[in-house]
Parts: sequence; C-alpha cells; structure tokens
Amino acid sequence: MKTLFERVFAGNDEMYALAEKAVAEAVAKLGPDAPATFGDTAYSLPCFYAMTGKKIATVGEAKAALENEIRAFMTRNNRTKDIFTSGVATALSAEMIELMKWATHGGCPYEEPVMGHFTDAQVRELGVPLVTRDIPGVAVIIGPAPSAEEGVALVKQYQEQGIFVTLVGGIIDQCVQQGLAMGFPRRIVALGHELSSVAHVVSVALRAALIFGNKEPGDYEGMWRYTMERVFAFVNAFAPVDDMTVACGAGAIQLGFPVVTNDTEENNMFRVPKSIIIQPDVSQFNATSLEARDIKIKITKMDIPVAFASAFEGEIVRRGDMQVEFDGSRKTGLELVRMLDASEIEDHKFTLIGPDVDQMDVGSKNDFVIVAEVGGRNMQSDFESVFERKFHAYINCMEGVMHTGQRDMIRIRISKSAFENGLRLKHFAEVLYTKLKSDYDAVIDKCQVTIITDPEAAAKYRHEVATPAYDKRDERLLSLTDENVDVFYTCILCQSFSPSHVCIVTPERLGLCGAVSWLDAKATNELDPNGPCQIVTKGGLIDENIGRWEDVNAAVNKYSQGALESVTLYSIMEDPMTSCGCFECICGIEPFSNGVVIVNREHAGMTPLGMTFSEMASMTGGGVQTPGFMGHGKHFIASKKFMKAEGGLERIVWMPKALKDQVAEKVNQSAKELYGIENFCDMIGDETIAEDPETLMTFLTEKGHPALGLDPLM
Ligand code: SF4
Ligand code: ZN
Repeated sequence: MKTLFERVFAGNDEMYALAEKAVAEAVAKLGPDAPATFGDTAYSLPCFYAMTGKKIATVGEAKAALENEIRAFMTRNNRTKDIFTSGVATALSAEMIELMKWATHGGCPYEEPVMGHFTDAQVRELGVPLVTRDIPGVAVIIGPAPSAEEGVALVKQYQEQGIFVTLVGGIIDQCVQQGLAMGFPRRIVALGHELSSVAHVVSVALRAALIFGNKEPGDYEGMWRYTMERVFAFVNAFAPVDDMTVACGAGAIQLGFPVVTNDTEENNMFRVPKSIIIQPDVSQFNATSLEARDIKIKITKMDIPVAFASAFEGEIVRRGDMQVEFDGSRKTGLELVRMLDASEIEDHKFTLIGPDVDQMDVGSKNDFVIVAEVGGRNMQSDFESVFERKFHAYINCMEGVMHTGQRDMIRIRISKSAFENGLRLKHFAEVLYTKLKSDYDAVIDKCQVTIITDPEAAAKYRHEVATPAYDKRDERLLSLTDENVDVFYTCILCQSFSPSHVCIVTPERLGLCGAVSWLDAKATNELDPNGPCQIVTKGGLIDENIGRWEDVNAAVNKYSQGALESVTLYSIMEDPMTSCGCFECICGIEPFSNGVVIVNREHAGMTPLGMTFSEMASMTGGGVQTPGFMGHGKHFIASKKFMKAEGGLERIVWMPKALKDQVAEKVNQSAKELYGIENFCDMIGDETIAEDPETLMTFLTEKGHPALGLDPLM
C-alpha cells in the first residue's frame, strides 16, 4: 500500500513524464518556433497562464515552461501543501500534453463527439446560466462506469438537474454506445479519451477567475480561492483509479472540487473528509456529489411524459423526425400572455379548442395559439412581455420539442419520439402553468392556459385579441425612454462571479448580457425586492449628454461595495460602465477612422483591430472600468444612447456581417432619426469587406462614413 503522498507524487511524475515526451516529440517534429495554441482564447496557455502569469505561444516556450515553472510546483517535502501543488502540476502537465496535440495537428485533433478545448466565447456564454443557477454545477466524470447503463443513467441524472457535464475516458464510449446525444449546446461535453484532456475543464474554471473574477494571472492563491468559492464543480472518478487520476484529484481538491469515487480502501484509495468521498454505490454518485459540493437543485415536478431540462434547450428536431409542426410564417402561430383580473381566472384550467396532436397528420403544418392568462395582486401589464419571452425556454426544455421565434411568428416542432411517449397539447399547458407559477410566484396568483388549433378560431383570436395586444405593447415600449421613466435599476446577478460588477439597466440600455431589459429588471425587483435588481432614482443630474447622475453614482458605489465611484451611462471613454464577462458584444476604438468596431461572441474571425472577439473581450471585464472598450448587449447597438457622449452610433465602422444583418433594420432607423442618414448599415464594414484597418479606411472613405469627420476619440 502506498500513502496518499506517494500516490500523488507518483501520478504527478507519470503525467510530467508524458508531457516531457510529448513536448520533446513536438520540438523534434516541428521545431521550437512552431506555434502552440488551442485557438480562440486570449489566455494562452490558460491553466498555465492563470497559475504563473506567463503566456506561451510556441512549442519551445512550452518546453521551457514545463522544465521551469511546472517543475517548480513539484515539491516533495511531504507536507500537505506538496500534495496540492503537485496536483496542480499534474493538471498543468496534462494541459501541455493536450497543447502538443493541437500544435502537432495544427488545430483541434479530436473528432465528434469529442470537443476538448472550450473557446473563450463558450466560457463567457456560460456566465449567465451559472449566475442564475440555471446551471447549478459542473460535473467532471472520469473513466468507464461499471456498466454503460449506469454511466448514462448518471449523466442523464445530472443533465435533468441542469448540471453541466464533462466526460473523460471510457464514459464517452459508453454514452456513444447508448446513443446519448452530446455537445456544448446540450451541456454534455466529451473532453477526450485520455486523462490529460481533463485539463480542458480546469481551464474553464481558471478562465472564469480571469474573465469574470478579475484575478491577476499568476495569483496562485487568488485562483484557487476563486474557484473554491464560486465555481461549483466536482469530480466523479470510477474505479479503478490510477495514480495519475489520484494526482489530478489532488489538483481538483486544491481548486475546491471534491472527488467522489467507487474505488475502495482495499484498492489503496483514501478517504479525506469533504475532499475524497468513497461511495461504493454508483447510483448514489449524484446525491453524494451534490451534497459534497453543497449544490441545491430546485426541482419543479411536472406531470409530463418527456424529460424537462435546460439541457434540451439547444435541441433541434429535424423534418424527418417530426410528428407535427406549428408554423407562424405559414399559418397562425402565436403565443401570448394576458393579464386578467384574478376573479376571471380559474387556476390551472386548460382549454383546447380544435384537434390535438394525435388528430393531426404526420408531418403536417398546423395552426397554433397558446395563451396564458395570469392574474394576481402584484401583477402589472408591463410584465406580460417579460413572462411571454420565457415561453421560448420553457417549451424548448421539453425533450423532443423545438421552439423558435416569438409573438405571432413562432415555430414549434414536436418529434415523433416525444409524440410516441405520449406528449400532447395539455402537456404544453402544464409546462407553462408550472413554470410561470414557480418562477413568478410573487406576482402570479392564478394562471389558466388556452390552446387553439382550430384554424378559424385561431385566426379570429389573432385578429381580435393578439394583434391589438402586441400593438399596444409596442406603443408602450416606444414610449419607454431614459428621459421619461422615473427610475433605473441595478442588476448585480453577476456578482457571484464578478464581485464588484454592477449593471445599470435603463429603458434604452439593457444589461450587457442581453438578457435583462428595463422591464425584466422591473419585474425582478417586484418579485424579489431584496434581490439583484434594485431601484436607482434619477436625482442629481450632473450631465445629461454623458449620462451622469449623483444617484447612479451612489448606487454603483453602494452595490459595488465601494469598488466603483462613478459611472456614466452613455460614454465609453469617461467612467464607462463596467463589464463582468458575459457580454454579448464588445466594442473597441478603431483609431484610424475615429470610430468603433463591434464584435459579437459568435464571431470567431479577425477584426480590423487585429484582435478577435476573445482578445478584445480580454481587454475588459471583472467589474473594472476600461475606457475605450465596452461590453454590451446586441440590442444596445441601435439605441439612441449608444455612445451618445461620443457622437452616437455613427461611430460604428465595422461589425461582423451576421451581426449587422441582425441589427440593420433598427440601426438604420435610429441613424435616420438621429442624423438623417439613409441605410447607414451600408456604410459599415464587415469581414467580407475588410479585416484590416487599411482596407477598412479605403472602404469608409469611399462611402463617406460620418465617423471620419467627427472629433478624435482620443
Ligand atoms: Fe449580469 Fe448585468 Fe446581465 Fe445582470 S444585467 S445578469 S449583472 S450582465
Ligand atoms: Zn455577467
């Protein structure tokens, strides 16, 4: 029997030797100057950079890092600290092994369903679901389960709880064998078959500390304190657990992630309270892990014949797999929330007008109206649209159901397998009822749902009720400007990752994540008066153009616990609003044109700033003010308050084409109203026009872009 020290040190030595070999081979094959990167990250090499503060870009630098910094972590003084640093050294060695695969292959060496490396954009995308606890934790499952059935059952259990699952080794093949669909949108990610691939999930945790936590790279203690306090991850390691896995486990424990295993003491496994937990019964891994990491799952029990989990949100139902379809572009297809007086509502009532799914032809397009009528003492008509927008997520979370669009342009597909499992329209009503009542219990006392599939009745409802309701709402939204509301709101949800970050949400400036509008914030405040969205009064106007108020300053000061003294709402140069890290877009100054470049998270390519999204994004974050760079939501681009202090949206000189197409209509409209410019988006460059500043300048000059004539930004 070895001691825990001996096992960790042996496992660390073994992983280190593998890394040495991989690096030596890469140097021999590619030469020391060959590039070494996972791509799509501004923190190369992420784990190593986080722990040491040094960046690595070539194979030669990787070799030096391994021999110097990583070696230095491998202390052998038989103190508890050595177990931890050797555990970290094991993870860093593992990351090197993976990096050499990328270097040798010239890109991602893995094939579907294995993913390996997470891009920075993916890490940022996880920000909001993690802070809302929509993703309550992250599981790292290593090795093959005793049987494929048990392994997949465990993965599915986590999936249904919303836990993000990452897989290493034999469990991947077990999931493939059982036909389990995987991938980032489904929140089940296969990291790799070799143990070294576990580095990719460590990388997510450490990049969270860099991106959201504003931790200094190289701040070893800052890193593990951050992950321990804020990243709710844990490890499940199946027996037999070898020395290398034990060493990785030591690294996990240093980061605050407990390890649950079914290996035994007879087999030289150890129990360490709160850190290594032996659980012989694999069916109890789930419960044991959640308890060990103190993860509470909010379960809403629903009486429906298919699974309901956020992991199914990204699921696509293809035409061939489709039982029936509702399509708002061809037929009536709409969703609506209406406020009624509570006395007019019979709670939990469901009405179906027209045929159910089993009376529709397979593969047919049908009419569909789904209405939730809600009432309650604290309900306000402003909340109707807030609740209605949730339908998308609610309906999508049903396994085998796909929902896109909104209002009277929705499309829903029901898969054959969901239908065969017994899914009918009453279950849609059940989902809306249960979720609305549990998510908005402070506001909704009563709720009834009506579904209309009869074509005539559906058309009549659209004409007489829905369209007038949408029109009225649009009028109200248009009337909502920063000037004519009495209050703004804070949002501090992201403080669980970015402790000093505060969003100020106004009618014309939504939260930078894109998920919190002024109406959302208002509803959140109503639901939970002590929650993340607090009222900000508008007293003490200092400068309207730049958007500076005494009350806003007081609010950011208070809610950032003194970290921020002053923010402006409309400037990116002077005391700009901070960013946490989960922003939809980042904009940055383009010095040649005196304009700004905006890039969205989905765009992987280069920008004329010579930086990708990830690189631009890394310039700001963690709740710190960075003049010249600003994270923001997509809808903010067309706002009349966008960079108002610096001249407004006529500063925009470049956007990725897909983003431009998405916002064009509204941006053109605003540009026309503000500056009298027609089709302003035609003057804005994109990647099909220019990816470097010279070509962009030629294009802007040709078009007579207004930014060229504005005052210098710097
Ligand atoms: Fe985070 Fe701001 Fe979005 Fe709130 S509004 S969730 S603080 S990014
Ligand atoms: Zn955030």
